[in-house]
Amino acid sequence: MPSLKRILVTGGAGFIGSHLCERLVERGHDVICLDNFFTSQKSNVAHLLGRPNFELVRHDITLPIFLEVDEIYNLACPAAPGHYQYNPIKTMKTSVMGSINVLGMAKRCRAKVLQASTSEVYGDPEVHPQPETYRGSVNTLGPRACYDEGKRAAETLFMDYHRSNKVNIRIARIFNTYGPRMHPFDGRVISNFIRQALAGDQITIFGDGSQTRSFCYRDDLVEGMIRMMDGPDDFIGPVNLGNPHEFTILELAELVLDLTGSRSKFVNRPLPADDPLQRRPDITLAEKHLGWKPTVELREGLTKTIEWFKTINLSHYRPPTPNY
Ligand code: NAD
Ligand code: UDP
Repeated sequence: MPSLKRILVTGGAGFIGSHLCERLVERGHDVICLDNFFTSQKSNVAHLLGRPNFELVRHDITLPIFLEVDEIYNLACPAAPGHYQYNPIKTMKTSVMGSINVLGMAKRCRAKVLQASTSEVYGDPEVHPQPETYRGSVNTLGPRACYDEGKRAAETLFMDYHRSNKVNIRIARIFNTYGPRMHPFDGRVISNFIRQALAGDQITIFGDGSQTRSFCYRDDLVEGMIRMMDGPDDFIGPVNLGNPHEFTILELAELVLDLTGSRSKFVNRPLPADDPLQRRPDITLAEKHLGWKPTVELREGLTKTIEWFKTINLSHYRPPTPNY
């Protein structure tokens, strides 16, 4: 029986955060979910509200907050390109000031703190697949920089609090993750394609669709994050968490059509600036240190995600930004 802890999840009402809260509540931990609901809604955690070991706090992580906790998962940050580019200055503030606030709390409480970093720290990578040793290729001036550089600065802050103040940290670099509770209007490729296919709308392929991504199912990712947090203190990361099975965007579109039985047609749209042409995690480190690797293949995960999309009422979801 693992010891029960007080755990803060910032961004806990979001797509990944809500599932993480669910898993931690199931394990009996005392969970505080903190969120400003910029890209999520309370309905993601409504089923947890009656549980005695779950609390919901509406708060913006760019502002300090004083809580007593044993562990912190720092997920607060808009994650979809349309969301993080909507107010790029706020995105950077969320990564940087949010990290300073949770690291300060971790220092004061002697809590362990995990940063939800991203494959975007590798930018448009020239090394393929990407190992943690690759230092990345990010355009500091481009529209993705508010997110990429914000997350890179957050990693720096985590390492400096670790070196200077002995804060017990973990850094997980998350690669494209999908599953039930993705915001249907987040503009990400999987939510767009499923929504479009189910409605019989055109499937929007950015560029010629030859760019690649490697998609990790939500449950696999959350398992990896928990293993990283619970893992040995001498393995602080960074560690890549993602599914190494790589697909072109065109292959993904064809699979979505196949699984939905949709007759939607493809339409090409311009490739957004700095859109990475290829992405696949090297997960050797996660396998070695955490005994972790994904178990859900894209076809299976997409089937579950499509089933969830069929159950939701789109009018209950507010598009957080006009960019979907
Ligand atoms: P999401 O948008 O569903 O979740 C982010 C949550 O953070 C939302 O609930 C949002 O309201 C909240 N939030 C945003 N700014 C905040 C602020 N200033 N204060 C408090 N809360 C705030 O996205 P997600 O996919 O669940 O991503 C969760 C985390 O994982 C993010 O940090 C993201 O960068 C990281 N990540 C996700 C992916 C992915 O593919 N899903 C990939 C790499 C990294
Ligand atoms: N994409 C696409 N059509 C869409 C949305 C996205 O072709 O309707 C492409 C996008 O250009 C990118 C890939 O799909 O190459 C993944 O995009 P997403 O926004 O999901 O994530 P990220 O670019 O952050 O990996």
